[in-house]
Amino acid sequence: MKKCIGCDLGGTNLRAAIVNVESGDVLYQMSIPTLAREGHDAVMGRMADLFLQVIQSAGMQKDEIGSIGIGVPGVLDLENGETLFLPNLPGTWPHVPLRDTITRLTGLPTALLNDVRSITNGEWRFGAGRGVDTVAVFAIGTGIGGGLIVNGQLHLGIGGTGGELGHTMIDFNGPRCGCGNDGCLEAYASGPAIAAMGMKAVSQGRTTSIAELCDYDLNRITPKLIAKAAEAGDEIAKEIYEKAGFYLGIAAASICASIGPRRIIIGGGVAQAGELLLGPIRRTIRERVYVMPVEQVEVVQSQLSDNAGVIGVACWAALTNDRK
Ligand SMILES: [Zn+2]
Repeated sequence: MKKCIGCDLGGTNLRAAIVNVESGDVLYQMSIPTLAREGHDAVMGRMADLFLQVIQSAGMQKDEIGSIGIGVPGVLDLENGETLFLPNLPGTWPHVPLRDTITRLTGLPTALLNDVRSITNGEWRFGAGRGVDTVAVFAIGTGIGGGLIVNGQLHLGIGGTGGELGHTMIDFNGPRCGCGNDGCLEAYASGPAIAAMGMKAVSQGRTTSIAELCDYDLNRITPKLIAKAAEAGDEIAKEIYEKAGFYLGIAAASICASIGPRRIIIGGGVAQAGELLLGPIRRTIRERVYVMPVEQVEVVQSQLSDNAGVIGVACWAALTNDRK
């Protein structure tokens, strides 16, 4: 049985899991606060300690672990093993030699991968993407992350930057996106964008149960609350998910035309709305793609929830290490 460590470097928590990379099982895991304000050197020290600790707590020896994979929330230089821009971590970590530092501190070969590409790899190997060779993943939360599997391989592009599906443009004159561009999908269909549609409906005084559900406090409106209203039959709430699903479908239609995916996986917290969101995505791609057999493209919900990233990056580390 081959085991690797998969780590999720989050702005709030550091999570490390020992993963059986042949079955996708998480054998043991631990989580500690990132304490990102202490700076990258301190965080890397805590990461290395956590990895050694998780091996010990699982009752294993270091030589039973093949390698370590770290899922990183931002832009990386994969060739040099450095972080380039982590927008959610203080200091943004420009040119931090994360890979080699962890290798030096733990004595284990280490590989880096963007966090949503890690999720993509996990879902493809052991989740909703199993059995097909070309997959697109949209992970919808605070932002919209993405990832692509093309012809049976995780697509990387320049330095691993390929697959940012949340920044597919919906309207080049559209609202400003967090990335600096105008009109990206993320500005239309992320969790905050969906919540904003609910806030707008309530503040305009439209007749919707969202108002009662949030106790007339706009700050309490979340995608989850809107989904609850929609499931109870609220027309405005259903309309909001229709709209978000339409925008996602428009972006997905472009992906269908570019890579011909057999499956499109919708993940992240917002995907818990299920068919409310998946239905309109499916309808939109069927209506807006003519150049490939779009009726064969499946649109499904992710399956591995919180574990997709650590499983995916552990498998990535195993593969990267085998190639050396
Ligand atoms: Zn953008």
